[in-house]
Amino acid sequence: MVVDKAERLDTFMEGVIARNPGEVEFHQAVHEVAMDIIPYIADKPHYKDLRILERMTEPDRVITFRIVWEDDKGDLRVNRGFRVQQNNAIGPYKGGIRFHPTVNQSVLKFLAFEQVFKNSLTGLPMGGGKGGANFDPKGRTDREVMRFCQAFMTEMHRHIGPDTDVPAGDIGVGSREVGYLFGQYKRLVNRFEGVLTGKALEFGGSYVRTEATGYGTVYMMQQMLTHHGEQIEGRKCLISGSGNVATYCAEKLIALGAKVLTLSDSGGFIYCKGGLTRDQLDWIIELKNVRRGRIEEAAEEYGLKFYKNKQPWGIKGELAFPCATQNELDADAAVKLVKNGIRAISEGSNMPTTPEAIKVFGDAKDVLHAPSKAANAGGVAVSGLEMSQNSLRMQWSEAEVEERLQKIMKEIHDECVEFGIQKGGYVDYFKGANIAGFTKVANAMMAYGVM
Ligand code: NDP
Repeated sequence: MVVDKAERLDTFMEGVIARNPGEVEFHQAVHEVAMDIIPYIADKPHYKDLRILERMTEPDRVITFRIVWEDDKGDLRVNRGFRVQQNNAIGPYKGGIRFHPTVNQSVLKFLAFEQVFKNSLTGLPMGGGKGGANFDPKGRTDREVMRFCQAFMTEMHRHIGPDTDVPAGDIGVGSREVGYLFGQYKRLVNRFEGVLTGKALEFGGSYVRTEATGYGTVYMMQQMLTHHGEQIEGRKCLISGSGNVATYCAEKLIALGAKVLTLSDSGGFIYCKGGLTRDQLDWIIELKNVRRGRIEEAAEEYGLKFYKNKQPWGIKGELAFPCATQNELDADAAVKLVKNGIRAISEGSNMPTTPEAIKVFGDAKDVLHAPSKAANAGGVAVSGLEMSQNSLRMQWSEAEVEERLQKIMKEIHDECVEFGIQKGGYVDYFKGANIAGFTKVANAMMAYGVM
């Protein structure tokens, strides 16, 4: 009996869903990869017979732990922490820590799974992992955040290490939190070692790590446009989010002469018809990182339009950069973007586009669409460079790190083209990223034998 590709995908997904009940984000991430990998390995028995894809969907381990901490009133609070160690075939587990009330096992498993492919694409020796807690830092004082981070690390430190598992930041975990987490780790193990990336420059951090994800997302866009004979300068850009990724994406776009029309947070978005200036952006970065305010305040400060509880995807723009969170861009939003003439999307946040929205962009054919595992890999790439610098006990210059970041993003783009080019020159960047990311990890897993 001949089993067609669609049937094979369905059977495979039935198994994934049965083994991971209710974990919808994880199912979505696996499906997005399996759609490309199952046809790719159909005539490659060495991958298929050794069940490499099945093995990759099963995390090496998922660790969960209780975090108890005391708030400023002296009340005890209880949260749940996680570390998903997905795959260390090509290097130590590597991936961020997320503090957000929506954190659960499904979200972290999807992020860890994606991270395996992303880290492979960077060309650096890093496996994939992800962690976090259902803790909401919003409205918490500095002291409360510090006590939470210390309690979190007290539990997590026994599972990580510079050659085992190297966490970093993500939503709700920026340089302040990395400082508290690293301080507690160092105190517990009595060693100064590169166990976290995203550290401040004074204690082992790398230049350009803070900016790397946002910059990398722009470099990916630049590569896609250049490959198609176009440029970024003067283009109208829509960005969602106003955190680390969004603001440094905006900074690089402004530096390259593009117009940043929007930024957002979970309360709504600001719209600046002529494009934000660098001074306005600096004010927003200070608002978000120091005063920990809301994006609405920027609209009040500069007389910009604020759309409460709305997303920016209805605004007419040429380039889109979703930089907030997963599934933030659905089919309705995609239809609006296509109708308004969107040319390209570079995903700063992880899995921001729903499967239905991916289809809308794909069907449009003249829309270039870089998936997060390629487009936002600049952050983890510079984290990899931070690990190298820590091992060497050196700090490279800003120019040197940025040059390496640009080179890595170009290589990722070119790998996507190599594996994703279709008849007529259309590049399926999703397919390219999935296959390129898969191959290296799969080959390493095969070399280890059955485990
Ligand atoms: P930050 O915490 O710095 O910023 C997150 C931004 O997204 C905030 O503006 C936040 O608004 C908004 N946001 C978060 N959740 C939601 C939601 N459910 N609905 C609407 N808006 C939301 O996080 P980062 O910038 O670091 O991360 C953003 C994305 O980029 C994530 O998907 C992350 O996984 C991904 N990423 C980050 C990397 C990094 O180096 N930091 C590396 C690779 C990927 P509000 O404050 O109102 O919640």
